[in-house]
Amino acid sequence: MRLTPQQHDEIAAQRDEARPTRRATVPALEEILYEPQPVLDHGFVRVVDYMGDDAAVVQAARVSYGRGTRRVSEDRGLINYLMRHRHTTPFEMCEIKYHVKLPIFVARQWIRHRTANVNEYSARYSILDKEFYVPSPEHLAAQATVNRQGRGEILEEAAAQRVLNILREDAERAYAGYAELLNEDASGSPIDPARPSLARELARLNLTLGFYTQWYWKTDLHNLMHFLSLRADAHAQYEARAYADAMLDTLRRWVPMTCDAFLEYRMNAATISATGLAVIRRMLAGEAVDQTTSGLSTREWRELMARLGRPA
Ligand SMILES: Cc1cc2nc3c(=O)[nH]c(=O)nc-3n(C[C@H](O)[C@H](O)[C@H](O)COP(=O)(O)OP(=O)(O)OC[C@H]3O[C@@H](n4cnc5c(N)ncnc54)[C@H](O)[C@@H]3O)c2cc1C
Repeated sequence: MRLTPQQHDEIAAQRDEARPTRRATVPALEEILYEPQPVLDHGFVRVVDYMGDDAAVVQAARVSYGRGTRRVSEDRGLINYLMRHRHTTPFEMCEIKYHVKLPIFVARQWIRHRTANVNEYSARYSILDKEFYVPSPEHLAAQATVNRQGRGEILEEAAAQRVLNILREDAERAYAGYAELLNEDASGSPIDPARPSLARELARLNLTLGFYTQWYWKTDLHNLMHFLSLRADAHAQYEARAYADAMLDTLRRWVPMTCDAFLEYRMNAATISATGLAVIRRMLAGEAVDQTTSGLSTREWRELMARLGRPA
């Protein structure tokens, strides 16, 4: 994560400023407000604004006038109930805004989540930094054979080194080409006045998916949890998961009761199909069920056994 001294100063100045307010604030989230949380080699996630807290969820669910006089345990019980029964609209009353710096290939997956407001750094107006993602060797793995969307065995040292060299060399070459096409120095003057400076919107064409982009991303608590349930999941790509994990930490700070309920009833819970449920009932009744007698496909059987922590 590389921030310029000026960016550091801007963040520090913002963090030094405090305003009295009647609105709800959350001390644990205030602690990291504006502060970039490093992700991958050059990326970060930072919370730049938020609205509401656990009490706002409760207040909306009860449609009450103020904070009320109920005990914390009652609020927790209500939040758990809302989460369990997918009564989702009270969670939409809270909002959060992030500033994220992320590789373009992660951004392509992330942008599929349509229920957020996004404003991306424009490489038509501005020049992208020379920052590209290079995985650390422990994340370099071969193509998985079972799951076509996943990774298998970690690469041996020599093979990993070769991959890293190719990734670095290609990115270096691409950026050198970008800089040449731009033909601009830091002040915007041509480096070689004899050559034209290609429009920024065209000069970026050869940059690879590993280069970093940035955006502001604002969403409500309900949709944030939907995003996290998909992207902090073990099936999500590691690089997207790295961001989701950092955001899960911000969720924990922001709305601890909602976060607990989310982990209990969504993130670490399981949805079982009707046939899967019948299999569990038969097993509990002492019947020896295997895949062939289960009514489940091989893949579904494997997934069910994994959820039950039993060998497939
Ligand atoms: C592990 C994984 C693998 C994936 N693989 C692929 C892939 O191979 N190819 C690919 O193209 N995508 C892939 N995706 C993306 C995936 O299909 C979704 O587009 C993405 O996860 C966003 O989910 P979402 O639509 O639920 O989220 P959001 O866009 O945030 O929407 C949230 C919810 O709002 C509702 N909603 C939003 N917009 C509409 C609408 N227009 N109409 C009806 N309901 C709407 C839906 O209920 C939706 O679930 C993958 C995602 C994951 C997590």
